Amino acid sequence: MVTRLVLVLGDQLSPGLSALRAADRTRDLVVMAEVMAEASHVRHHPKKLAFTFAAMRKFAARLAAAGWRVAYSRLDDPDNTQSIPGELLRRAAAEGAHQVLATEPGDWRLIAALADLPLTLRQLPDDRFIASHAEFDAWAAGRKSLRMEYFYREMRRKTGLLMEGDAPAGGKWNYDAENRKPAAPDLFRQGPLRFDPDDIVQDVLRLVETRFPDSFGQLRPFWFATDADQAEAALAHFLTTALPGFGDTQDAMLTGDRFLNHAFLSPYLNAGLLDPLDICRRAEAEYRAGRAPLNAVEGFIRQILGWREFIRGIYFREGPDYPGRNALTHTRPLPALYWGAGTQMNCIAQAIAQTRDEAYAHHIQRLMLTGNFALLAGIDPGALHEWYLAVYADAHEWVEAPNTIGMSQFADGGIVASKPYVSSGAYIDRMSDYCRSCHYDVRQKTGKGACPFNLLYWHFLDRHRDRFAANPRMGPIYRNWDRMPPDRRATILAEAQGLLDRLDAGGTV
Ligand SMILES: Cc1cc2nc3c(=O)[nH]c(=O)nc-3n(C[C@H](O)[C@H](O)[C@H](O)COP(=O)(O)OP(=O)(O)OC[C@H]3O[C@@H](n4cnc5c(N)ncnc54)[C@H](O)[C@@H]3O)c2cc1C
Ligand code: SF4
Repeated sequence: MVTRLVLVLGDQLSPGLSALRAADRTRDLVVMAEVMAEASHVRHHPKKLAFTFAAMRKFAARLAAAGWRVAYSRLDDPDNTQSIPGELLRRAAAEGAHQVLATEPGDWRLIAALADLPLTLRQLPDDRFIASHAEFDAWAAGRKSLRMEYFYREMRRKTGLLMEGDAPAGGKWNYDAENRKPAAPDLFRQGPLRFDPDDIVQDVLRLVETRFPDSFGQLRPFWFATDADQAEAALAHFLTTALPGFGDTQDAMLTGDRFLNHAFLSPYLNAGLLDPLDICRRAEAEYRAGRAPLNAVEGFIRQILGWREFIRGIYFREGPDYPGRNALTHTRPLPALYWGAGTQMNCIAQAIAQTRDEAYAHHIQRLMLTGNFALLAGIDPGALHEWYLAVYADAHEWVEAPNTIGMSQFADGGIVASKPYVSSGAYIDRMSDYCRSCHYDVRQKTGKGACPFNLLYWHFLDRHRDRFAANPRMGPIYRNWDRMPPDRRATILAEAQGLLDRLDAGGTV
């Protein structure tokens, strides 16, 4: 029998992967490869690279221990062709193999690269998700607009999660209204579980230090889980220490508390070290046992069962051109402050510093700080998309692009979000303590020291009036704008333009 190659990518580290299930360990060869093409197509954060390589090495060892033949290419191997197609061709030639078994990659670029191979490709669905493409498409078909909330209810019914017969637990589908509180410092909040680097991780840290010396981001201290057992321990730790408070601090931001009650599970989940349905069931069990309140558990389950699955459905439904969309025709280059060049805006400085140190920022920081600022300032969404894809340890295109292009930048014209996620400084002040130590004054709307979010908010709304004034949820905002005296409006717009000019000239804002 002729050997087949079984491709396992860096975010496919699951023993139950469809390609492995379809393969025969007595006959087939598993191909795994650390390659420069993947490691450098955007400027990945060094923690993200180290996490991926270490988790791949440990997964390869686990497959080998389970009896698989594994051809593993290390980044520094002299024969490494440094691309996934190149490594498949090299292994195919060495083995006399003509067939590749693969699980669908989460990135249109790799899907196309595999399809172009001069080998016979059998590509299997990635069924590590709760909804299949067919299910999502059937739900979406014929709908005028796609709203996560309705898809989420379908998923609740399908899985039975937090259901009492046909009704949602507690009588409501969504407890978001209880999850919009600011946070107070809490010395007992533990944050995610941290792991000491073992020998495999140490090797990888040295490799990343040597090969990617100019990356944006701190490699050390490195504390991520890098295998399924550690990820499981991180999940168990989250369920007992943070889940009960998850809802209360979900939208909050606090200086010195970078994780609040967030899970920090997305890197592990997206790499395949954890299973989404299992996480949801375990969270539900905490509610059923009376150890976590419904607003927390429902909010958490909605992120995974609702948002994560919805976002993936959009990526694959919309097609390869999705990451390049730019409905608002924003073209401003990404300012250097995103790469740590410094800013006087304390909220942005906090989010960037934590991104640099941890390869992590939580959702509200991504959406309402770095995302909000980019949208208000008219930054090119493609450049921002590359930034998000690079700097976060959990970033893979299928999940990052709809969050950035769709949810955060409205660059898909309103497929993911029904209105743009924009706010002035008042929202940031309500949900964080950042404004208290800022160079700018959040209460000041114009003049020297006015919060940039206050100025840019109106500039954004004014320049996109044709698109948004008729949106029923934005009409009242435009009416407020129209009620301002004309000279005040002119001052705001002129000062906002001055700020944008400063940004364009490379000045500090
Ligand atoms: C501009 C932007 C870019 C983003 N890029 C990514 C990305 O590349 N990868 C990624 O996994 N998430 C991304 N998100 C979604 C979200 O910010 C992260 O999933 C979350 O911050 C991960 O941290 P956590 O595990 O502590 O999450 P928690 O707040 O504890 O949430 C629990 C889990 O829910 C899931 N989840 C929550 N929100 C979303 C969402 N909007 N989309 C998909 N899954 C969600 C994650 O798997 C997460 O682990 C992005 C959001 C924005 C606004
Ligand atoms: S004043 Fe404005 S820029 Fe400063 S932290 Fe508050 S919102 Fe951010």
